[in-house]
Amino acid sequence: MTENLSIDPARLHLVEENYKRIQEEINQAAAKSGRPPEAVQFMAVTKTVEPAYINQAIACGIHLIGENRVQEFLGKRDQLHLAHCQKHLIGHLQTNKVRQIVGQVDMIQSVGSLHLAEEIGKQSLKAGLVTPVLLEINIGGEESKSGFSLEELHLNLTKISKIEGMKVEGLMTIPPVCDNPEEARPFFSKMNETFIDIRGKNIDNISMGILSMGMSGDFAAAIEEGANLVRVGSALFGARIYQ
Ligand SMILES: *Cc1c(COP(=O)(O)O)cnc(C)c1O
Repeated sequence: MTENLSIDPARLHLVEENYKRIQEEINQAAAKSGRPPEAVQFMAVTKTVEPAYINQAIACGIHLIGENRVQEFLGKRDQLHLAHCQKHLIGHLQTNKVRQIVGQVDMIQSVGSLHLAEEIGKQSLKAGLVTPVLLEINIGGEESKSGFSLEELHLNLTKISKIEGMKVEGLMTIPPVCDNPEEARPFFSKMNETFIDIRGKNIDNISMGILSMGMSGDFAAAIEEGANLVRVGSALFGARIYQ
């Protein structure tokens, strides 16, 4: 009960307004790239966000949430209305946490190394599961970011395709921080090129259905360049407050 007292009705309303506006912008960007609105999945990124606001987004029509941290997700999920909502892990995953998250989410989007892929396969097999994943690409080649470089990706594809207990369903990226979404566009288009290229190879166990890119500041540009899953946090829920 004490928790309900801290829910801000103005913020609930804001989430609803933001949801409608963003969905409209997604629809327009999809139309620009010749696709129907439902061709692009709208993920709500819920890190640091309290369950009441996440549930508001779900009530508005969100069918997919993304959490960054295993512990935060496991701690919050009992309070979330997830019956018709999928959940993905999108944040950096340490190999020692893999066992806790396998089977608890519908997809792990942040698989940026062969080592992590192998651990997900191993723990999934142990649990009798096949975990759907996306391969995270460090498209800007930044030192500070995790993810496969394009070179590493191509070198490791065959090995990755042989990992049991895991199936690759697409690619994910976080491009370098840009002031203007137009600066991110070349990274998005390079991702789309790679996505199409790998799809054309028809490698067993590697399907290219999901291209996850675009966040609050640049999702429209990402969609125009081919994204079919955008990950939106602060534009939907407001600026994050880190405790
Ligand atoms: C936080 C986060 C997002 C959302 O960022 P916003 O700019 O708030 O929309 C998307 N993807 C990942 C991997 C994130 O960590």
